[in-house]
Amino acid sequence: MTEMTVFQMNLREKLPSVELRFDEPMSRHTSFRIGGPAAVMAFPKNARELADLLKVSALLDVKPAILGAGTNVLAPDGGIDNLVICLKDCMGGMERIDDTTIRVAAGVTMTRAAVFASNLGLSGMEFAHGIPGTVGGGVYMNAGAYGGEIKDICVAVDVMDMQGNITRRTNEEMGFSYRHSVLEEAQLIVLAAEFKLIPAPSEEVKAKMQELLRKRSASQPLDLPSAGSAFKRPVGGYAAALIDQADLKGYTVGGAAISTKHAGFAVNVGGATAADVRNLLRQVSDIVFEKSGIRLEPEVRIW
Ligand SMILES: Cc1cc2nc3c(=O)[nH]c(=O)nc-3n(C[C@H](O)[C@H](O)[C@H](O)COP(=O)(O)OP(=O)(O)OC[C@H]3O[C@@H](n4cnc5c(N)ncnc54)[C@H](O)[C@@H]3O)c2cc1C
Repeated sequence: MTEMTVFQMNLREKLPSVELRFDEPMSRHTSFRIGGPAAVMAFPKNARELADLLKVSALLDVKPAILGAGTNVLAPDGGIDNLVICLKDCMGGMERIDDTTIRVAAGVTMTRAAVFASNLGLSGMEFAHGIPGTVGGGVYMNAGAYGGEIKDICVAVDVMDMQGNITRRTNEEMGFSYRHSVLEEAQLIVLAAEFKLIPAPSEEVKAKMQELLRKRSASQPLDLPSAGSAFKRPVGGYAAALIDQADLKGYTVGGAAISTKHAGFAVNVGGATAADVRNLLRQVSDIVFEKSGIRLEPEVRIW
C-alpha cells in the first residue's frame, strides 16, 4: 500500500463528512483544461472542515495545495501526488457589513462579488467583473484589470494558517504588489475578504461593468481555454506588445499557442499538455528576450 493510499484512507476515516474525490483530474478544475489526476481533492464546506483537513494533513506530514477556480494555474500532466483543497463554490457567502463595506467568502467568484456590490449601489469592484477567479485567488494574486486592483479596495482579509488557526490581516499587512501578496511566502489561506467601496447609482455601476465586459470579449480569446495573461507585465513595456512585435501571434507548440487575437494569452487550441504550455512560454520568453532584451516571466502559477 502506498503512502498516498494510507493518507486517502486516513482522510476518509477521520473526516467522513468532508467531500473527498480520489484521482480527480485537475483538467476538470483548471481553465486551461490541462492537468493529470490529484491523488485527493477535498471540497470543505466551511472553515471548520478546512481546519480539520489541515490538521489531519499536518499529522500525516502532507502539505496540501490550495485551488480556487483554477484560472491561473498550470497543473502537471503527471498529476499531483498530494491533497488539493478546492475552495471554489465551497467557502461561500456575501454580506454588507456597513454602508460601504462588503465581506465576501473566498470561494465566491469575483464576478459574483462585483454583481453583489453593484446591486447594493456600491462602486469600486467593476474592474473585477469578468476576472474568472475566486475572491480567494484574487486576493492571493492581487488580481487587477482596467486600472483597478484588489489592493485598492481590500481593507482586511481573514486567513487560516496550515495548522488551522485563523487571524486577520489589514491591507498594509497583506504586502500587496503587482500580481502578488504576502500570502505566497506566508502560506496562508484566504477565508474571506472585506472590500471598502463608494456609494454610486446602481445603474451606473452596472453600465461600467457591461462596458468592461464588452472590452474584454472584443480583445480576449474567451472562446479558448487559457489562464488569462500568460506573462507578467515587465518593467518598461507590455508583454502582449513585445510578443506581437516579435511576430509571435499564432506561434504554436503542440496543442498550445499564442492567441492570434491577443498576444498576451497562451491558449489551449486542442489537446495541449502542460509540457506544451511550459515549452511555449519558455520559447516565447527567449525569442522576446533576443529581440528586445526584456525577459518575460510567467504570470500563470506553474504547479
Ligand atoms: C480568460 C481569463 C481572463 C483573466 N483576466 C484576468 C485579469 O483581467 N486580471 C487578473 O489579475 N487575472 C486575470 N486572469 C487570471 C485569474 O483569473 C486571476 O489570477 C484570479 O485571481 C485567479 O483566481 P482563482 O480562484 O482562479 O485562483 P487559482 O488559479 O485557483 O489559484 C491561483 C493561486 O492562488 C492560490 N489561491 C487560490 N485560492 C486561494 C485561497 N483561498 N487562499 C490562498 N491561496 C489561494 C493558489 O494556490 C494559486 O497559487 C484571467 C484568467 C482567465 C482564464
